[in-house]
Amino acid sequence: MKKFTGIPASSGIAIGKAFVYLEEDFPEIPRYSIRKNQVETEWARLLKAIVEAVEEVQVLQERAVREMSKEQADIFAAHLLMLEDLDFQDQIKDRLRGNLQNIEWTVWDISHEVALKLMSSPDPLFRERAVDISDVSRRIMDKLLSITRFSLADLDQDVILVVHDLLPSNALNMNKAHVKGLVMDMGSRTSHTAILARAFNIPAVLGLSDITQEINNGDRLVVNGGTGEVIVNPGRPELARTENAISAFRKMNDDLLALRNLPAETLDGRRALLKANIEVPEEADQALRYGAEGIGLYRSEFLFLTPGKTAEEEEQYEAYRHVLKTMGDLPVTIRTMDVGGDKLLPDLQGDEKNPLLGWRAIRFSLAHPELFKTQLRAILRASVDGNTRIMFPMISGVEELEEALVLLEEARSECRNLGYAFAENIEVGAMIEVPSAAMTADILAERSDFFSIGTNDLVQYTLAADRGNERVNYLGQPCHPAVLRFLQMIIDAAHRKGIRAAMCGELAGDPAVTPLLLGLGLDEFSMTASSIPQVKRIIRGVSMEQCRVLAEEALRSTSYRHVNSLVTGWLAEHFPPA
Ligand code: PEP
Ligand code: MG
Repeated sequence: MKKFTGIPASSGIAIGKAFVYLEEDFPEIPRYSIRKNQVETEWARLLKAIVEAVEEVQVLQERAVREMSKEQADIFAAHLLMLEDLDFQDQIKDRLRGNLQNIEWTVWDISHEVALKLMSSPDPLFRERAVDISDVSRRIMDKLLSITRFSLADLDQDVILVVHDLLPSNALNMNKAHVKGLVMDMGSRTSHTAILARAFNIPAVLGLSDITQEINNGDRLVVNGGTGEVIVNPGRPELARTENAISAFRKMNDDLLALRNLPAETLDGRRALLKANIEVPEEADQALRYGAEGIGLYRSEFLFLTPGKTAEEEEQYEAYRHVLKTMGDLPVTIRTMDVGGDKLLPDLQGDEKNPLLGWRAIRFSLAHPELFKTQLRAILRASVDGNTRIMFPMISGVEELEEALVLLEEARSECRNLGYAFAENIEVGAMIEVPSAAMTADILAERSDFFSIGTNDLVQYTLAADRGNERVNYLGQPCHPAVLRFLQMIIDAAHRKGIRAAMCGELAGDPAVTPLLLGLGLDEFSMTASSIPQVKRIIRGVSMEQCRVLAEEALRSTSYRHVNSLVTGWLAEHFPPA
């Protein structure tokens, strides 16, 4: 038996068999010159690779017809047509003869060129084809380079997934029904994979450095996502203790759920709003189950992260509508796509040296006005079905906000011209998650209907510590005096202009800091749905007077260590463990 402790990233306890998944990176494409007399051999290699790829896609297509949607099956049908497209093959042969470069490079070069051309087309159908081309060429490349891939979507047994790192797109598309727990070398509590694990209620421990070297396939694991403990091949006593912990965890959740219909109101009558963060439309049901008073953050970018698919206007419209209808009159804040960073759109964004400081969120949207307006139109059209709000991610200054508002106005007039109805007076807010936005919150408040503070990024950018990198995880302290001063500035700036200050970063769902956030004047808290009852319990047990005193003391503190011990001590004193 071995024990490890990592970052507790998604609560819950799981027992199960390890599945160690070591994902290969997409390989470097070899590039070398060939002689004229090698052209035929290279060509024959390609034809063989195409035959193998066709066989593989046929199997996938049959499976899609049986087990998935018609839409999925149609994608594979389109891939088959491309693989067998003689014009495309001729183009490759001409380039092979002309440039005398190896076949892998030739295929890669042409596909990339065609995909880029299609991607810049205003026609959504062409853009969709660009993703297909990249997919098909990747499959051919795998065959040429003899790479076999296992997709997490193919998991067919219950496992505890052990990985070095997991991109949010992979987490989104894995067969979640069979992933009972997640253990990872990389990552931290605010990495997007952790956020997804919480959304899917999968217990997760992250940031374990080299746990993939310590665990073998088939090892029995206990994963405690609340304490961060991972036990490999536990003995009987540990197993018995784990069974007890699982029962206690269930009971605690049931007790907390009893608070579902009670208001989040302090002892002296201050009402806060507790909302849910969601990543996929289906989570809206769960939000209601935990008593959310709206969706404070719908991370719409997850619609764009399924490989081989682009989310066109209709698909987006249906997704937004689904959430709005599920939530009825309750407000739903749709954040426009925050792609980039660890949520790269591989076909559109390419490689960046420093993606977290690069083409992310509103920057990417403003650079792709057609894509952005497609999203805005989809949101506007859906807005007749519920109480919609729009929010822009990673605003760094007033210019970006104004530019986004101009495009929103253009999307409105496009809807009018096309005869689409939409709700008037949709509130539009800015996420405050970049230090420059926090410093100019008073200016941004002039142009915003509300603020939502993204502490995950605000902490990352204030402390200059990558939120997904376990080596600098210790620096990502949301109670650092620098962050607390920013929070106070943002909330005060909002209130001075008479707008609401919400928070949708993970800090909003941490019950230990709830009294501090109340004391700073926060109006709305948006979090993983399952955290709502715990935060509500705290709010219902404190008075604003006490919270203000606590916030003042925290703001006077000179170190995060002091603030952390202040808030935990305060909580233990006011909410002694039963
Ligand atoms: C944040 O940065 O706090 C936030 C809520 O946005 P995301 O986690 O999606 O970056
Ligand atoms: Mg963010």
